[in-house]
Amino acid sequence: MTAAPGTPVLAVEGASIVYGGGVKALDDVSVTIHHGELLAIVGPSGSGKSTLLNVMGTLDRPTSGTVHCGGLDVATLSDRRLSALRGRWLGFVFQQFHLTEGLTAAENVATGLLYAGVPRARRRPLALEALQRVGLARRSGHLPHQLSGGERQRVAIARALVHGPALVLADEPTGALDTANGRAVLDLLTELNDAGTTIAVITHDRDIARRLPRRIEILDGRLVSDTRGEALT
Ligand code: ADP
Repeated sequence: MTAAPGTPVLAVEGASIVYGGGVKALDDVSVTIHHGELLAIVGPSGSGKSTLLNVMGTLDRPTSGTVHCGGLDVATLSDRRLSALRGRWLGFVFQQFHLTEGLTAAENVATGLLYAGVPRARRRPLALEALQRVGLARRSGHLPHQLSGGERQRVAIARALVHGPALVLADEPTGALDTANGRAVLDLLTELNDAGTTIAVITHDRDIARRLPRRIEILDGRLVSDTRGEALT
């Protein structure tokens, strides 16, 4: 799934989120992501990363500002159409993997197709193909508790990729892993990006951010730098 040539995969423009009590969790943040990019959104705890992730993932609507997915203004969509768009356009990876315990690796990956309108008969072959891409073809019948943390995160990455999303949003994807497994997951994300997947990694860890080609820094809800060289504050 790709945007029309030249159209950003995702464009957040001037987004603010104000919580009750006047807390500005996001303050006039703009982020544009193009097809083929691999970027880090980095900032310390409390800087607004999760809030920005929720806006980018169309899970929260900003108080002001706009979000376009592939050129489409998500504010114009009903909740039902927005869920459908999210299911096709985006893939999510979480710090704690969020695999379903009673399902095998292949079945977990296939759940990534539930909201993408893929017929049942196509789901398993696609899931096996995605597991192959993350180097886990031989673990397809394993249950989550039979896998290491690093392997579980690979399954979760396969689930995020299986429907061919335009953008994968990875929220602290190495946060629950030891250094070696964290490095391996980052290497995998880099490989997948080399093969064409667009990926944004949200992290508090500067060492991880430093290993990615583009870095956007956020502090106190404001975007303070973007190595892509767009308007800095
Ligand atoms: P991070 O993910 O970088 O740790 P968050 O996006 O979770 O940061 O939080 C940014 C700021 O917004 C923090 O000051 C946090 O306390 C505040 N915040 C987050 N969610 C809410 C909420 N639901 N209500 C009020 N304040 C919130």
